[in-house]
Amino acid sequence: MHPFGGFSPNADYRSPVDELLDTMKGNNMSRAIVMPTPQGESGNRGSWDIEDFIDVIRRHPDRLAFMGGGGSLNKMIHAESPDGKVSDDLKARFRKRAEDILAKGAIGFGEMSILHISLLPGHVYESVGGDHPLLLLLADIAAERGVPIDMHFDLVAEDIKTPEWLEQPPNPPEMKRNLNGFERLLTHNRKAVIVWAHAGSDNIGHWTAAMTRDMLRKHPNLYMSLRLNIGRGGHVQNNPLAPEGLKPQWMEVFREFPDRFVIGGDQFFAPPGNRGLVSKFAKAGAAIRKRTNVFLSRLPPDIARKIAYENAIRIYKLKP
Ligand SMILES: [Zn+2]
Repeated sequence: MHPFGGFSPNADYRSPVDELLDTMKGNNMSRAIVMPTPQGESGNRGSWDIEDFIDVIRRHPDRLAFMGGGGSLNKMIHAESPDGKVSDDLKARFRKRAEDILAKGAIGFGEMSILHISLLPGHVYESVGGDHPLLLLLADIAAERGVPIDMHFDLVAEDIKTPEWLEQPPNPPEMKRNLNGFERLLTHNRKAVIVWAHAGSDNIGHWTAAMTRDMLRKHPNLYMSLRLNIGRGGHVQNNPLAPEGLKPQWMEVFREFPDRFVIGGDQFFAPPGNRGLVSKFAKAGAAIRKRTNVFLSRLPPDIARKIAYENAIRIYKLKP
């Protein structure tokens, strides 16, 4: 969940978090994990991270938990060292910040990014290797501390010309295969739990059910959070929902790996009057929630219970 209240000093995190809590009440959601979006701009645009919402979130310990780093650790990667060259000083600052995030009560690191494609004007484009030294370091810290990492990774399984609807800058005209770097991150430290975000709403088309199955078979420390999005302009492929029931190839994956999926709503909440990109994303929330309920209702009840509840409690170490 991304309740975005703006950049300090005028930020208002209270109203988006209140709206999140209301939404939870009305939709049978018992817990939510709040995290900043993966930010990586090097310019003057502000950033937001746990310090912006921590006071508001801490008032609801039975409902809300949080992860951090999207507005700080992710910027050290994408804005400070996009070429993968990392000084000892940056490494030390990165570790210190990661430890500070956990000391403040975060249950893990998120939302981090490897490739983040820009879907709309003003939406960020970020790209580094999955085996960027700071991502490897983060995997080590996460493993040491027993906390998960939430990772935004738009998968490019083979070199392609950028699909027409994504062709506008800041996206590049071509996209290079990025799977190897991600797999090196996964094999780097098997004790690091990595939750690959937004399964089931793939904007490129390479994150198929078969790819999902292969990756889960190869990488025991890999988990996925499902975003049951409609997608923009019918471009999203590889969604598990079929007009009636679930697509059989996805159903097979859920049966083989019922313990490896959680629901990742990717829901945005904005303060009243917000006219920015966040309010656009916030408007998509209701449809995602509706489709999530349809999805869960079409799973066998024991698998639905795992994906909707039990897996998240275990992976994120939430109180049952
Ligand atoms: Zn994301």
